[in-house]
Amino acid sequence: MTKAPTETGQGPRHEAPHQHSTVPPFDLLLSRCDTTKARKQSPARGMTRSITVRCLAHPDKSPSLSVSEKQNGDVVFHCHAGCSKESILEAAGLEVIDLIHPDNRYAQRIKPHAGPKFSAWQALQAMATDVIVVALCAAEIRRNGWLKDDDLDSLIEAESRIQDTIQAGGLLR
Ligand SMILES: [Zn+2]
Repeated sequence: MTKAPTETGQGPRHEAPHQHSTVPPFDLLLSRCDTTKARKQSPARGMTRSITVRCLAHPDKSPSLSVSEKQNGDVVFHCHAGCSKESILEAAGLEVIDLIHPDNRYAQRIKPHAGPKFSAWQALQAMATDVIVVALCAAEIRRNGWLKDDDLDSLIEAESRIQDTIQAGGLLR
């Protein structure tokens, strides 16, 4: 009996084409930023860490890029000089998925053309953190009549993820 080699090195190409980091997104983004002159801040509502660093997407002498880590580990950021999220991501060499904590990504990967179907219950579980953000922001608006920039960023991101999850979970059929 001889043992024929079965692996030719040309296996099926079903692995993800892009290797994503397992570093927390907050630390990953900061590792791409110039953190000299960085100012640590007390985290906004619903955040665990917040810092202001020099923006990557425009010549930034004094820090104007607010970076915050959400309680679920996702990162949100906002340039007070008005740079777009896309331009900052590009300058950082990151993709949108890199802003999502690895533990939260399974719900983000779902696209209409690929991936397993998730049960409504799984979809609801995936949305729990975002629903809390929306609730906190709603309470803040009720109390103050307005939202801070960072909270608004969180609200917008939560809303868009909730929409994605509603679709992926088939909650509106
Ligand atoms: Zn900027």
